[in-house]
Amino acid sequence: MTAFKALGLEENLLKAITDMGFETPSEVQEKAIPILLERETDMVALAQTGTGKTAAFGFPMLQKIDVKSRTTQGLILSPTRELCLQITNEMIAYGKYMPGLNVTAVYGGASITDQARQIKKGSQIIVATPGRMKDMIGRRLVDISKIEYCVLDEADEMLNMGFYEDITEILSHSPKEKSTWLFSATMPKEVSTIAKKFMHTPVEITVGTKNVGSDQVSHEYYLVNARDRYNALKRLADANPEIFSVIFCRTKRDTQKVAEQLIEDGYNAAAIHGDLSQNQRDLVMKSFRARQIQMLVATDVAARGIDVDDITHVINYQLPDEIETYTHRSGRTGRAGKTGISMVIVSKSEVRKIHTIEKMIQKKFIAKEIPSGMEICEVQMFHLANNIKDTKINHEIDAYLPNINEVLADFSKEELIKKVFSVEFTRFLNYYKNSKDLNISGGGERNFSEEDNKDSTRYFVNIGNKDDFDWMSLKDFLRDLLQLGKDDVYKVDVKDSFSFFNTDSTHQELVMGIFKDFKLDGRQINIEISKDTGRSKGRSGGGGGGRDRGKRRSDSRDRGGDRGERRGSFKKRSGGSSGSDKPAFKGKGRRGSERPETKGTGGRRRRKE
Ligand code: ADP
Ligand code: MG
Repeated sequence: MTAFKALGLEENLLKAITDMGFETPSEVQEKAIPILLERETDMVALAQTGTGKTAAFGFPMLQKIDVKSRTTQGLILSPTRELCLQITNEMIAYGKYMPGLNVTAVYGGASITDQARQIKKGSQIIVATPGRMKDMIGRRLVDISKIEYCVLDEADEMLNMGFYEDITEILSHSPKEKSTWLFSATMPKEVSTIAKKFMHTPVEITVGTKNVGSDQVSHEYYLVNARDRYNALKRLADANPEIFSVIFCRTKRDTQKVAEQLIEDGYNAAAIHGDLSQNQRDLVMKSFRARQIQMLVATDVAARGIDVDDITHVINYQLPDEIETYTHRSGRTGRAGKTGISMVIVSKSEVRKIHTIEKMIQKKFIAKEIPSGMEICEVQMFHLANNIKDTKINHEIDAYLPNINEVLADFSKEELIKKVFSVEFTRFLNYYKNSKDLNISGGGERNFSEEDNKDSTRYFVNIGNKDDFDWMSLKDFLRDLLQLGKDDVYKVDVKDSFSFFNTDSTHQELVMGIFKDFKLDGRQINIEISKDTGRSKGRSGGGGGGRDRGKRRSDSRDRGGDRGERRGSFKKRSGGSSGSDKPAFKGKGRRGSERPETKGTGGRRRRKE
């Protein structure tokens, strides 16, 4: 808190900051706030999404305006309605100890007269989307001739969305002698142009390196045949039962199609794109925030409004046309100090783009392989076991227990476990049993080596991210523990509460022996030999040296083909609703996942890559 005070902020703001739980200023706040407080100046600030830009301009603006006056003194322009509302709410929260403060949001799709009325009451600050703002100025419903501070938030995005002319028009109604603060994640030519046009010798601030993605995000790509894209997406979801994700498609049509297909296949999914009404988009976002939707399929434009912390995965179903957009996409995860994964499903023809993106973000991608069906089954079974373990007992069932106990009286605990899992899993297992390998080997540099045919044992162990391991640290840990050489532990794949790894089969006894009665922080660690050989897990890049790349095996058993991959039925996805409050899709949000391709939607045949 003293750190905020040192920036020059006053007591009423500091109090609100404490309430919000902010402890230390972010870098962009540290750099921008003192300057903006101290002098009247224009500013260009470049910082990634999620770095706290709102407060960087919000605190100084609040401190500098006069709340006793009812004149509009500050204008904040932002690209989407969602962002506009978010900024408004943040400003209100920051200004909660500033009696008399009025912040009004102005955006399309809501009553213009209501907004005008609110402004008339005396809004010192207006947060607006350019289109509606221009309208209101045109109709003389708002007067910005006395503003002293103007913020262009997410300037790159506003220009991407074609707001250049609206912005020019709006600013022509504002006084010349004001301070303009431009905030942007990237600095394309258009942004420099607008900076030159509207600003006088702005102070420039850059946080981190331009265009470099957050350190909190790891980047992975999965090479598949274009026609397997959708199935690959489902496997990625199935292999991550707790996924809370945004899935990016290139077009509105694909966005809608993928979402519909996912819903039909029993996932909690929804689409968000520009063809939905504002009201529909709001409802979708509300369900997403409430976690009723686990997979939000979005276009790039629509996703600009998504400001949800805790997103675990961003999945690039298709790569964006403009690679700069990739940074925006991956910036949806890894927010607020959390880690996140940005996954890209690529076909062979797009692999080159990965390298271009690596240069841009100055980070390596990890080449991974789509999990095999059996691997997914293991993940899911363990997830179910954990769920059972963590479930609070519902005492409403107590009354039925005597009868239930009677029916099951003859079974031991072991038998019951087996039965419960059989009930839940038989269909799922059957479904994935004959699933094919979706991976294709990626040309030249990613050939798979002979050594992969060596006898190898794959293990399953119940330690993972939860225990602060990532694949590298787990590998180190295992090597130390087992006293093995540098390359003797490989194909390490760390999930949330468990992991897989391989050793040559000659080490199997050693591994099983050491883990026999092994405790970590007092917790009993279990290890099992996994049936899956780990052949579909690979890793490279990230300095990993490519020792343990995945391999290919043309296993005849895998030939059956799972064109019609449907998810198994065991996971009772809540669906969140009966569909009536989910306008974004045609499906009913039910989990009738087992239905074959009968619906006239054309199913996967319709998918064109
Ligand atoms: P940006 O506009 O750069 O994308 P936001 O201003 O939306 O980022 O901030 C992202 C999140 O971080 C918000 O939830 C915000 O409340 C939070 N936040 C901002 N500043 C701080 C801080 N100093 N400490 C902790 N959390 C912060
Ligand atoms: Mg922002």
